[in-house]
Amino acid sequence: MSIFEDLLGCYLYETAEQIKLEDWIVEILAAPKRAVEVSIPLRLDSGKMKVFKAYRVLHSDARGPGKGGVRYQKELTVVDAKALAFLMSIKCACANIPFGGAKGGIAVDAKALSLNELERLTRAYVRETHLFTGENIDVQAPDLYTNERIIGWMADEYYKIKGKVLPAFITGKPVSMLGSLGRVEATGRGGAYIVSEIAKLKNLKPAKITVAIQGFGNVGYYTAKFLFEEGYKIVAVSDSKGGVYSGEGLNPEKLMEEKIKGGILGECIPTGSVLACKELERITNEELLESEIDILIPAAAEGQITEKNAGKIRADIVVELANASMTREADKILEKNKILVVPDIIANAGGVIVSYFEWIQNRTGDYWKKEKVFNELSNIILSEFRTINKMSEEKEISLRSAASIVALERLAEAVREKSRN
Ligand code: NAD
Repeated sequence: MSIFEDLLGCYLYETAEQIKLEDWIVEILAAPKRAVEVSIPLRLDSGKMKVFKAYRVLHSDARGPGKGGVRYQKELTVVDAKALAFLMSIKCACANIPFGGAKGGIAVDAKALSLNELERLTRAYVRETHLFTGENIDVQAPDLYTNERIIGWMADEYYKIKGKVLPAFITGKPVSMLGSLGRVEATGRGGAYIVSEIAKLKNLKPAKITVAIQGFGNVGYYTAKFLFEEGYKIVAVSDSKGGVYSGEGLNPEKLMEEKIKGGILGECIPTGSVLACKELERITNEELLESEIDILIPAAAEGQITEKNAGKIRADIVVELANASMTREADKILEKNKILVVPDIIANAGGVIVSYFEWIQNRTGDYWKKEKVFNELSNIILSEFRTINKMSEEKEISLRSAASIVALERLAEAVREKSRN
């Protein structure tokens, strides 16, 4: 089953049945409003031509303009982009921010390109897709293997095409280009707020909580950093090349320094690995997922926890910071094994919430202090988490089911309202 079918099954069909949603609304939400597929020819530094596929999918704009990341992922297909755009509609509704869902990107291994090639490809992507994106249409943001620098190139190219500065076109821009303070660390910050809320609810002391994080990029690193600062013991982290473990606890900032020493593409994309920390015990990604810890945080790619390894997970709590980190089957196994799963649509909403703040700041011209950004983020993410948690306890359903119900009801209400006569 593709992740598209899996996500629709989980967040749409199962939930629609529970809330007795009208068939015609299910039909609308089961397919994107628009899916754009383009081919981008790029002249490589060697002089050779190479053609890349790129996509931009707007799933729904019923609650507001589309919102969603642009990712550079070799295996990306239009089907994945559709699935992830749908997930964004659900996530924005779950966080109760005024956006629909969108997603896209380029099927490329960014690490295999030079910095100049990456910039030319990025700018060409904007030229090919700009008609379908914009402040009131579909607002893009960073995602897998894209970051502030890439978003800055995208904004600059868009301003050239339009002949004016339209900063609300995209979020996750460098602060010097009207980005928001706190956007870079927002997803990790939001994840850390949720971990702290759960620790409080369960009366657990951070110093006694062990954490393993799969993926040491933007989300994994900042989550590790904030939890470390609050006294949690980060015992294992990993990236695509493998992982490191220390029973004594790891210092995320030191790990990132070593990773960056291992290589970075134009101060842009780390090509090094946490494995550069030679004195630390090495573990595989599988071992990390299955390690004896209190909290497991998947913060890498989708589909990492499947029916094959879900039964081996020994953490008490899984905070899903990667989008769609587990299959539906895996989720059911974790639920059966009484592992508390905080689903992606609320756990990693910190990024899109601060993107929303950036969009507001760009439209009003009123730029916020970082303290205000984090206070507002904490207010929104914790208030929505508490709503979901309350429903989960009252109805004796998983957090994912409760989050799905809250989100789908909000999304359906907008679709219904648009068609009311
Ligand atoms: P990133 O490119 O900055 O980092 C990804 C990290 O995952 C890298 O360290 C990479 O080496 C590692 N990785 C990739 N495949 C792996 C594997 N199989 N095993 C272990 N590690 C692996 O990306 P990011 O922005 O941190 O995004 C991570 C996840 O979080 C994605 O699922 C993304 O969709 C989701 N997310 C990101 C944001 C955001 O604001 N950046 C917001 C919400 C959700």
